[in-house]
Amino acid sequence: MDRYIELTGARRKSIVLIDRVGQWIWHRNGFVAGNTRYRCSSYTERRCRASVVPDLHGIYHAHGHHNHEIHQAVICRHTFIEWCRERPRTTNIRPHAIYLEALRRFPGPPPCPFQEIRATIYRARRETNPRIPVSPEELAELIESVPRYNMDLNGEHRFFFGLVTAGNEHALIFINVGALPALVEAWSAHMDATFHSTPRGYYQLASVHGKTHGISIQVATFLMTAKTQALYEVCLARLKEICLQQTGRISK
Ligand SMILES: [Zn+2]
Repeated sequence: MDRYIELTGARRKSIVLIDRVGQWIWHRNGFVAGNTRYRCSSYTERRCRASVVPDLHGIYHAHGHHNHEIHQAVICRHTFIEWCRERPRTTNIRPHAIYLEALRRFPGPPPCPFQEIRATIYRARRETNPRIPVSPEELAELIESVPRYNMDLNGEHRFFFGLVTAGNEHALIFINVGALPALVEAWSAHMDATFHSTPRGYYQLASVHGKTHGISIQVATFLMTAKTQALYEVCLARLKEICLQQTGRISK
């Protein structure tokens, strides 16, 4: 662990330096003889004169004495918020679950309530969103290239199983791997489709449900550009193939 870490501050272009051993927070404040100078974050409030200057080798040297308590609580809060901001870039986990995960990771009283950090988490997630793909091929390529998109919500199983094509029509295949055993056991399977939540450029979002022990479980979803017999056939063929691959069996 590095003793000193530099972060972007809340204000535009402001830089904050955190001393994780001494538990002090410093604000960047101009240059002295070509070197960046940081002054204690309590300068304005307490007139604290302590400062830090890095030397040519990047080693930080502190000068002066603080006239107040260490900044521990603020550092905890900083670290907590930073972690909550990084997490949504690599997972699909919902913002509230990210917050709960952070609470477990940083024990002690919550450094801030969820309401205060919710917008930050959403913003971090939006920032990593790519542009909207223009074709099924491009969409498939994008989902394939980002684990966050092709894995299930918990990041345990693969959820996306490629693009299938029949003539000029395409479908993207999503399969709930955990539900495949239910499909194998099912006495009947039925299909349903929705048009309302279908993204532009696609005709329908079709789903396959397996009925077992009196309950219906959604097993697969196909995002289809049309509803032709040929396209349904390739979708179901892919589902069968993945089912065999994952469970070693196929449905009755
Ligand atoms: Zn100080």
